[in-house]
Amino acid sequence: MPNKAVLTLRDVEKRYDNGTEAVRGVSFDVREGEIFGILGPNGAGKTTTLEMIETLNSITAGSITLFGVDVAEQPQEIKKLIGVQPQAPGFQDRTKLREVLEMFAAAYGTLADPVRSLEEVGLADKVNSYVEELSGGQRQRFSIAVALVHDPRILFMDEPTTGLDPQARRNLWELVETVRKRGVTVIMTTHYMDEAHVLCDRIAIMDEGKIIALDTPKNLIQQLLGRGFKKEQHVEQANLEDVFIDLTGKELRE
Ligand code: ADP
Repeated sequence: MPNKAVLTLRDVEKRYDNGTEAVRGVSFDVREGEIFGILGPNGAGKTTTLEMIETLNSITAGSITLFGVDVAEQPQEIKKLIGVQPQAPGFQDRTKLREVLEMFAAAYGTLADPVRSLEEVGLADKVNSYVEELSGGQRQRFSIAVALVHDPRILFMDEPTTGLDPQARRNLWELVETVRKRGVTVIMTTHYMDEAHVLCDRIAIMDEGKIIALDTPKNLIQQLLGRGFKKEQHVEQANLEDVFIDLTGKELRE
């Protein structure tokens, strides 16, 4: 039996003040412990949908509940339940990792344990480093540590691996799996189909404010093939990413 739903959207709509109908009647459930992906071209309404769930954007119509709590009615309760991966470049430079974690924990009224938080994302030795000294991959991992500082039950990530090298990308996939194993439900957007295929248990595909497909990656592919889709077969034993990883190793550099 599938796990129970922790997030429920019913007929959710968003119309901005300028009349743009960014989300046009979206309904779906996310189950406990899932890694759930939202895919779609730019302008599809992904960010607007996430922001409504995260209480950062008002809901024009429909309802969103998280662990049974109504998002529109009890936004303060929702904030305790969710972790939102902040865009790492937004952290103030000249601030130590330890200090950033302490500031975020204080904002939630909890105490930080910076070494433990950083151990979980493989950055324990950086506790006294400055944010500006981190590489792109390290910043992404650090921003996950920040999002988890108050032990949320759902983690939201918006395009977490954009701009990372292949090693850092694979390392981040492992980290997302580790976070899920701790019992945290993960909701993410990505433009990388390989990433969605490897990581996501289920995927919602959005276009023009609507969900046009929602299933496991395997079932989505089966459905396409069932519609008679065919493409020329080129079975290659390796691809350029395999060459890159073979030559430069799987080890994370920084
Ligand atoms: P995605 O994340 O899939 O790229 P968005 O949710 O950012 O899509 O945008 C959906 C639509 O809403 C787009 O047409 C975008 O231009 C519009 N939009 C986003 N934010 C605003 C805003 N603050 N005011 C007006 N229109 C907006």
